[in-house]
Amino acid sequence: MSVLEIRDLHASVQVSEDELKPILHGVDLTIRSGETHAIMGPNGSGKSTTAYAIAGHPKYKITSGSVTLDGEDVLSMSVDARARAGLFLAMQYPVEVPGVSVANFLRTAKTAIDGEAPKLRTWVKELRTSMEKLGMDPAFAERNVNEGFSGGEKKRHEIVQLELLKPKMAILDETDSGLDIDALREVSQGINRVKDAGSTGLVVITHYTRILRYVQPDFVHVFVAGRIVEEGGKELAEDLEASGYERFVNKVGA
Ligand code: ADP
Ligand code: MG
Ligand code: MG
Repeated sequence: MSVLEIRDLHASVQVSEDELKPILHGVDLTIRSGETHAIMGPNGSGKSTTAYAIAGHPKYKITSGSVTLDGEDVLSMSVDARARAGLFLAMQYPVEVPGVSVANFLRTAKTAIDGEAPKLRTWVKELRTSMEKLGMDPAFAERNVNEGFSGGEKKRHEIVQLELLKPKMAILDETDSGLDIDALREVSQGINRVKDAGSTGLVVITHYTRILRYVQPDFVHVFVAGRIVEEGGKELAEDLEASGYERFVNKVGA
């Protein structure tokens, strides 16, 4: 059992060389392996900032609070060390890795995380199976990471990474955005395979409820203006579908 604890997190974004803009104003979240959490909220409410802060993106500065994984201080770790500790972050805008194939990228990542290279035969089979389930052509394994990938291909590739790396905690930032109906279903099924395996804590960041019809969250947290303003079970996502974010936005006067 693993636990990711975010305590009273305050974070700012580096807007220019000498200007920090405060974005997060005290976020508290506890995620245990096997749980699925949805983070919802309007555009600009700080959802991605939370993900970047946990990932260690250099543009995002933690001004107070803590993030621990099984008691270890995540914020003092290098970005690589965070991945080795079992944190997986799928970003809203994945980066291209020129000259590195999907197959090599995944094997290198797996080796770095496990501390030893995966056995080649089982690995090749696992990779092929995961790609097949996500509706990806096997030839994709030889393409350079994210280079010329369509939006849907980037998201499918993220889920292949998630399935193969088996992280303790995974934060998926708008994995559903820009997906057509078939891609959304295949990506959701991939997330559900990881969910059902039961050893990963999942955080699904979204501002639409449609992915949550496929991936049922145990907990829903609503972000407005850099804070969690409401929490509940999956019924909260259904309420939001009907009523929107307006009542919360009014509550905080944002
Ligand atoms: P969300 O993911 O909920 O849509 P973000 O965390 O991306 O929201 O953004 C929160 C706020 O921080 C927004 O007001 C956004 O404009 C601001 N922000 C985020 N990144 C930057 C940046 N690099 N420069 C300036 N402002 C930023
Ligand atoms: Mg506070
Ligand atoms: Mg965002």
